[in-house]
Amino acid sequence: MKFDNSYVTLGERFFHRNDPTEVDDPQLFLWNHALAEHIGITDDLINDKDTLARIFAGNQTPEGAEPISTAYAGHQFGSFNPQLGDGRAHLLGEVLTVEGERWDLQLKGSGTSAFSRGGDGRCAIGPAVREFIMSEAMHALGVPTTRCLAVVTTGEKVFRQGAHPGAVVTRLATSHLRVGTFQFFAARKDADSLSALCDFAIERHYPEVKNSEKHRCVALLDRVIENQIRLIVEWMRVGFIHGVMNTDNTAISGETIDFGPCAMMGVYDLATVYSSIDHQGRYAFGNQPHIAHWNMARFAESLLPLLDTEDESLMQELTGLINNFPERFQQAHRSMVAAKCGLLEVEDSDDELMDLLLQGIADAKLDYTISFDLLTRSVKCEQARGEIATQLGEVIERWHQRISTQDAEQTHACLRRSNPVVIPRNHHVEAVLQECEESGDPASALKMLDVLRQPYTQTEQTQAYQTPPEDGDRFYETFCGT
Ligand code: AMP
Ligand code: MG
Repeated sequence: MKFDNSYVTLGERFFHRNDPTEVDDPQLFLWNHALAEHIGITDDLINDKDTLARIFAGNQTPEGAEPISTAYAGHQFGSFNPQLGDGRAHLLGEVLTVEGERWDLQLKGSGTSAFSRGGDGRCAIGPAVREFIMSEAMHALGVPTTRCLAVVTTGEKVFRQGAHPGAVVTRLATSHLRVGTFQFFAARKDADSLSALCDFAIERHYPEVKNSEKHRCVALLDRVIENQIRLIVEWMRVGFIHGVMNTDNTAISGETIDFGPCAMMGVYDLATVYSSIDHQGRYAFGNQPHIAHWNMARFAESLLPLLDTEDESLMQELTGLINNFPERFQQAHRSMVAAKCGLLEVEDSDDELMDLLLQGIADAKLDYTISFDLLTRSVKCEQARGEIATQLGEVIERWHQRISTQDAEQTHACLRRSNPVVIPRNHHVEAVLQECEESGDPASALKMLDVLRQPYTQTEQTQAYQTPPEDGDRFYETFCGT
């Protein structure tokens, strides 16, 4: 593991230096071997489980690490909080891989910081394992996401409506720069720090912006919007509901970050919400594009201190990017839905067919993943074709006519690429978390991870995780502040 810490060079306004709080009895619970090798953790260390447990619990600082908690602000459910920050996380530093990738290595649940605001700085085993499983599943599904390297149990209790075993989860991200990081400095009218942050973000994520003829803030906004759209379209493809799309949980890299109250949609319904505190459906499945648009508008605002607001053409460029978001999203979303329906090239006349298919699935209250898996199989399997036709009626005949104009192998490949066989279904994930907590044994999580790491392949093991919940997740609830 080779550290090269660039964020700390931005200066003390960006973070607080503080070490993780030691825990009683660190034990390695989950370990991402492939990722460990990828970031260059040596075999010596990989084989030394005790040292790994101490490092990824925060009891031992690895050579080259400089633990900090980062500062950020954020709009939470629409209200601005100028002071959030890592209340229970420590960024150990940045590791460079031999391929030249740069990864933030962050411990979460590793103790309090100057930003804890009364919180205990800790994390229970359930949410830690949940973040590990969900992020690995998302990665395997092909959705941009932060990753998890380890879950270490602490031997201590954490109190959340009862006592639970504590854990520390290690997260890897291409950075932890959030829309809220920009808002932190914009709120303080600290243009110097904001400018340094902008340069840092461009260097780290969007170096091509340096060659743009546009103002760097406009070019940066354009790129961040592009990646945000790609991300939300991918969430919509697999049925992911983030649950708490606040601006502090929006990474400017375009990676999924903070898996708190996230969930997967079962029955296809745009209004699906599982988060216990989201009473208005602000972060409902189908509202995610609108919220991403809203968040990008907040990002644009946070850049204003760096812009000459009297410059009309510059302001027009900026507002143009925001105003154009829905259309740009719609185009990307349409391409995704077309691929999900197996259309190799999409024509104007296809829109009606795609709408009818989705509307049919919604009207019949069918499971999103199962329906598209069936559609995929129906290209080659008469029985599957009969089944989906019974459920959806004549639109299936029309769809078969349309795809019969295409090469069958290519159609099938396109459908399979777009439609997973298995997703991390809420009730299966919850059962695994409960089993892990009660037994103290990671076996059930490892078994599930094996399946979720090949989400487009049906294996003998897959079936156990494909079944939808008996109650259609009608009573399923997820929680924040976990
Ligand atoms: P989240 O909902 O996980 O995105 O967290 C929102 C804010 O609350 C962030 O600033 C977190 O660092 C902070 N936070 C969440 N849980 C805790 C905790 N147990 N102790 C201290 N701060 C926390
Ligand atoms: Mg957060």
